[in-house]
Amino acid sequence: MSVTEKLLRVYRVDRQLAGLKGRLSGAQRFLDHQIQLLHGIESRQTETNQKFKKLQAEVGDRESEIARLDERITLLRERMNSANTNKEYKAFLTEMNTHKAERGHVEEDALERMARLDDLKAELATLDNEQAERDRMRQVAEHDRDERRASVQDRLNELEAERLEVVKGVPGDALAMYEHLHAERDEEAMAPVQIQDRKRHEYNCGSCMIALPIESVSALLSHGGLTTCVSCGCILYLESETAAALLPTEKR
Ligand SMILES: [Zn+2]
Repeated sequence: MSVTEKLLRVYRVDRQLAGLKGRLSGAQRFLDHQIQLLHGIESRQTETNQKFKKLQAEVGDRESEIARLDERITLLRERMNSANTNKEYKAFLTEMNTHKAERGHVEEDALERMARLDDLKAELATLDNEQAERDRMRQVAEHDRDERRASVQDRLNELEAERLEVVKGVPGDALAMYEHLHAERDEEAMAPVQIQDRKRHEYNCGSCMIALPIESVSALLSHGGLTTCVSCGCILYLESETAAALLPTEKR
């Protein structure tokens, strides 16, 4: 097996590993997004709940104020009934009217706050529904992530083991070159030679599409030595169909 064929085995294992890891990270990203949205809803729930409780306490304060004024008004009415002079009566009446007017303001204020309480209650109910809905989405996403992880894990282990095996046969310098390219360019570390026009010996790099000199292709075809693209620097290889298509002509 030529050095290029050996590298190609490593490359193909790496592509499978990348595909599996990509599927996992996609599911994880989706789950993370659901959790983030859920936290957003929950912090709005906390905020709205705090507003609700504060407003509730304010309504409570106004209700006790009304009760206090009512007591005061009742007391004044009794005093008016037992007033000894007209002047005394009028003084109680004036005081009572002041309290009644104040009671009116407080009641108006309490009613306005109660209306806002109703709005907040409706808002909380909406948020509860949103939270429940989003939590269901999170559960589905988590289940999906776990399922994918479970289904992929065995295959990942297999591929990691396979990679250790296929790497063994590759000469150190070629492997180092590949690893460097792979770290830098990922999928573009290797590329197939593509036939543009077989009769006119026109070939191009499958990665950057630049035209390749015939020497690059001949070298690959004859002994499979390490051949890089003249332009993008990726390691070139021949797909078996390409090689099969080229061989008869080359050997003629
Ligand atoms: Zn290229």
